[in-house]
Amino acid sequence: MSISRLARSIATSPTLALNEEARKMRERGEPVVNMGIGEPKNKTPITAVLSTAALLNTGDIKYTPPDGTPSLKKAIIRYTEENYNRVIAPENVIVSSGAKQSIFNILYSILNPQDEVIILAPHWVSYPEMVKMCFGVPVVITPEDGSFIPRLQEIEQAVSSFTKAIIVNSPNNPSGAIFPPDLIQEIVEFCESRKIYYIADDIYHKLVFDGKRAVPAYQFTEKDIENTMVIAVNGVAKLYGMTGLRIGWVTANKKLVEVMTNVQSQMTSCTSSILQAAAEGALTGMQNVVENLRLTIENNRNVVMQELGSFSGIKTTRPEGTFYVLPDFRAYSNKSVELATFLLHKALVVTVPGKEFGMEGYLRLSYAGSVKDITTGIERIKWGLDPNSPNEIYIGDRKMIRDWL
Ligand code: PMP
Repeated sequence: MSISRLARSIATSPTLALNEEARKMRERGEPVVNMGIGEPKNKTPITAVLSTAALLNTGDIKYTPPDGTPSLKKAIIRYTEENYNRVIAPENVIVSSGAKQSIFNILYSILNPQDEVIILAPHWVSYPEMVKMCFGVPVVITPEDGSFIPRLQEIEQAVSSFTKAIIVNSPNNPSGAIFPPDLIQEIVEFCESRKIYYIADDIYHKLVFDGKRAVPAYQFTEKDIENTMVIAVNGVAKLYGMTGLRIGWVTANKKLVEVMTNVQSQMTSCTSSILQAAAEGALTGMQNVVENLRLTIENNRNVVMQELGSFSGIKTTRPEGTFYVLPDFRAYSNKSVELATFLLHKALVVTVPGKEFGMEGYLRLSYAGSVKDITTGIERIKWGLDPNSPNEIYIGDRKMIRDWL
């Protein structure tokens, strides 16, 4: 069987792979706690369910325009005005099957072979792979001071004549950090002056805590949407907990949206009309669902911090947004893949190895689940790693034996 070198070089999504392994273990009756995947527990907002059902009831489910239905685009234009204080036209918006496809489509539409994209570690696992799939070169920058916030100087040093874009994800998956407004401003100004695209992955922008705000990049450019280098990506997966209703979108200049539309029309024709109806229902419905979700997640963040506080050896930076925390487990192991595998099989907890995010020795824990998931999950991790804990415990009727990696 002949498979392309490029396709072969693309890594499996570790989050999905571990989740799949956990699912199989659960099917075998093992009581696994999932702190791996970033998926809120809430039900789909009722307005999204109703608008989906209304379309299904008509039985008239057809192709839509490749860049999205006019009515969903209208809702996105309103969202952009309300959240970004930007007035944009329908030609500045393209809807895709999740923010993941949105980002892929941007990269595919802006990169020439060998063009470089700057990625800030800790980073979402998919960015480097997507850049490679578009024949580009990912350039990963890891903050030298060991923090989760880069410095402009580090970015400047990584820029070359091949640099086409930088991806900024704040609040950040996996660290939960919000980049300070001054830094966002510096990066936006740098990108505008050097004609480098600033891709703002804003998928978590409303999941922020302690009264903090993730200041949008758009705020720091005087240029209108046709001339700015800022491109914003958003979606319904995280804000409304609609991970299965795959809708994301991009706001960008008309030329880029036109090219992205051609690409998408050759790839998927359009995004499912049913899912677009669901997203429209969420965007035009009661917005207190977002605030309720945010409050639940903020409470979960407090629980996670309390539980991790009594965990000797690990170092934790308090997340300011998202539903992830990225503790430093190097006191226990420098090999995060081994550590995550050990915790899955020995302590029945799914975590994601930091290596995948450019942070070896760290583990990403998701607190999108229930409070019980969080407390049980962390209790089990402590049991698995603490040399002073009992060698045997029972989880349900399953006897667990602790033997180190
Ligand atoms: N960006 C980041 C940083 C994410 O964490 C995710 C989802 N895990 C996405 C984009 C993709 O979102 P969607 O589910 O809408 O494709």
